[in-house]
Amino acid sequence: LWQNVPLAPPDSIFQLTAAYKADTFKNKVNLGVGAYRDNDNKPWVLPVVKKATSILLNDEALDHEYLPILGLKDFTSAAAKLIIGSDSPAIKEDRVVSAQTISGTGANHLGALFLSKFYKWNGPAKVYLSNPTWANHHAIFKNVGIEPVDYAYYDPKTIGLDFNGFIEALKNAPDRSVFLLHACAHNPTGIDPTQEQWKAIAEVIGAKKHYSFFDCAYQGFASGDLDKDAWAVRYFVEQGLPLLVCQSFAKNAGLYGERVGALHIVSSDRETANRVGSQVSVLQRSEISNPPSHGARLVSLILNDAGLFEEWKRDIQTMAGRIIDMRKELHRLLTEELRTPGNWDHIVNQIGMFSFTGIQPEQSKALVEKSHIYLTGNGRISMAGLNSHNIRYFAGELDGVVRK
Ligand code: PMP
Repeated sequence: LWQNVPLAPPDSIFQLTAAYKADTFKNKVNLGVGAYRDNDNKPWVLPVVKKATSILLNDEALDHEYLPILGLKDFTSAAAKLIIGSDSPAIKEDRVVSAQTISGTGANHLGALFLSKFYKWNGPAKVYLSNPTWANHHAIFKNVGIEPVDYAYYDPKTIGLDFNGFIEALKNAPDRSVFLLHACAHNPTGIDPTQEQWKAIAEVIGAKKHYSFFDCAYQGFASGDLDKDAWAVRYFVEQGLPLLVCQSFAKNAGLYGERVGALHIVSSDRETANRVGSQVSVLQRSEISNPPSHGARLVSLILNDAGLFEEWKRDIQTMAGRIIDMRKELHRLLTEELRTPGNWDHIVNQIGMFSFTGIQPEQSKALVEKSHIYLTGNGRISMAGLNSHNIRYFAGELDGVVRK
């Protein structure tokens, strides 16, 4: 038995982390995985999360019973308002179906699974993914029998958005295609459309009757402002475009291992939303029965208490602010101190956790193998891995591979 099972390659990001951990070099730097680190390269438990945890621990009324199939209602309702906006017509008209999921990955999976069963336009199921995108998007859609197709997004010449290519792809796709859109802080490029560009994208999506599959894993991380980072999603909802949103609290609440997320499907009316909700329940039941409670309780406390919510916003600004400082400092080192050849403005123009440096795969490889600086082959660096102790070393080594 299992003689025919081929050996699968290890996950490249987790392999990179393992190589970093095994490296004994004193000045090694991990710029691979997208998890926030403080200035001493330590994982950061948000102070507001510590506070919420102690409230939960002292709550005698809590037990370990199952949650409902679609999760903790106080969590999913507040989470929907956080991304879609509490004064959104979709929320007021009660036509958003929300399911608590196994973080953002689970939301993507449940959303993809729902589409695979019920999205019946266009013959064989396809989803358009930005080129490049989070690698797991490909795997998640393939897993449910939906074929990923690339759409133009990144322009290596400008290290910026290929806006015309993106618009052309929207226009050339058959009507009623499904487009996956990163709501903010695009992974891996750190390049988002401007609000004007989003408006133009929405217009074509509306004209072509495309379905928008928003993935929002970094709300708050792009600008430090939760509302600003939800702008594109809210604008699309206001325009009445059909969509769903996958939401993760891994990054913005530092709850990576707790797996707190939600899938929100916006329908045109309440009655449709009811039917959609009933089917999402059936799918969720067969996959996980019901989601885990601890992380959802923490986030629910934070979202539903005005004081804790304000504290959370400050914690998010601490994280986003440190990342922005690192961008500025890296840019300064490269352009002013080292006078590294080339234009490095993209380092400060890109947003969110990641930066696409624009270096070539062999240069990334040299950084890993010779400088003990761990980053993915596509030249993406996690800005959160930089700090005041290692940024000078990184800038110097980057300068070295660029000059070679
Ligand atoms: N979508 C994108 C674009 C991501 O970058 C990530 C995290 N790397 C996720 C979804 C999901 O993360 P999680 O399952 O940890 O919430």
